[in-house]
Amino acid sequence: MDKKVCIIYTGGTIGMVPTEQGYAPAPGMLQQALDTAAELHSPEMPAWELLTLDPLLDSSDMTVNEWNRIGEVICREYPRFDGFVVLHGTDTMAYTAAALSFMLEGLDKPVVLTGSQIPLCRVRSDGWDNLAAALLIAGEGVAREVSLYFGGRLLRGNRAAKLSADGLQAFDSPNYPPLATAGVDIRYDRAALARPAQSGPLRMTRLRHTPIGVLKVFPGIQFELFSSIVTEKLRGLVLETFPARAAGCCPCWKRPAATARS
Ligand code: ASP
Repeated sequence: MDKKVCIIYTGGTIGMVPTEQGYAPAPGMLQQALDTAAELHSPEMPAWELLTLDPLLDSSDMTVNEWNRIGEVICREYPRFDGFVVLHGTDTMAYTAAALSFMLEGLDKPVVLTGSQIPLCRVRSDGWDNLAAALLIAGEGVAREVSLYFGGRLLRGNRAAKLSADGLQAFDSPNYPPLATAGVDIRYDRAALARPAQSGPLRMTRLRHTPIGVLKVFPGIQFELFSSIVTEKLRGLVLETFPARAAGCCPCWKRPAATARS
C-alpha cells in the first residue's frame, strides 16, 4: 500500500514485558518486536514509522498533559503521514480517544487508537491483529476521524467504552454502530462514518486541568451528601441519570388514562 502511517506508542499492555515489579513497558522493546514481524512489512501494509513517547505509561497514569502531548505529535507529524495509530493502554483508551476527538478540529485523516489485553511478548497476544488492522484502517483513509479499533471492530472514539477487563473484544459503543467490522475484509458502515472535515488546517485545542465532577444519580440518592463537592471551585458537574419521567420519553412509562386518548 502506497501510504505512510505514524505509530505513536504511549505505553500500555501491548508493549509490556515481565519485570520484577510485574508487567511494565520497556523502551526499545516494541520497535524490536515490530521490526521482526513479517506481517507488518507485507506490501499490502502501509509503510509505518514508530514514535515512542517518553516516559511510556500505564494508561491509568494518563492526564490531560498526555492528551495534549499526543495531540501535539499528531499536529506536528500531520503533513508527513496519511494516518495515525496510537498504541495505548486499554484502561483509559476510550477517554483519550474521546478527548482527542474534541481537541482535533479539521481532522481529515484517520487517527486509530488500539492496544491489547495480552502483551505482544506472550503467546496468543491480541496485539498483533489489533495493530495490523489499525494500520490498514489508518492507511486506507476511509474513517477520517478519531476511532478505536479493538477485537475486530472499529468504534467511534467518543462513543467507545471499555466493558470487559479480560475479554479480547473489550470495548463497545452501545449507543452508536461500529464504524467498521473486520472479518475476512474490513467492512465500513459508510453511513456511520463522520463526514470528512471541511477544507482548512488541522487545529488543536489544548486541554487544561479543570475541576469537574461526575455524579451518578441513583433512585433514592441523598443529594445532601454531595453538597460538599459542589463548591465554587467546581467548574462543572456531569450528572449520569436515569430518564426523567416525561410523556413519550420512556416506553415503560404508562400515561394516565385521562390523557392517554388525547
Ligand atoms: N493497565 C494497562 C494500561 O491501561 C492495561 C492495558 O494496557 O490494557 O495501560
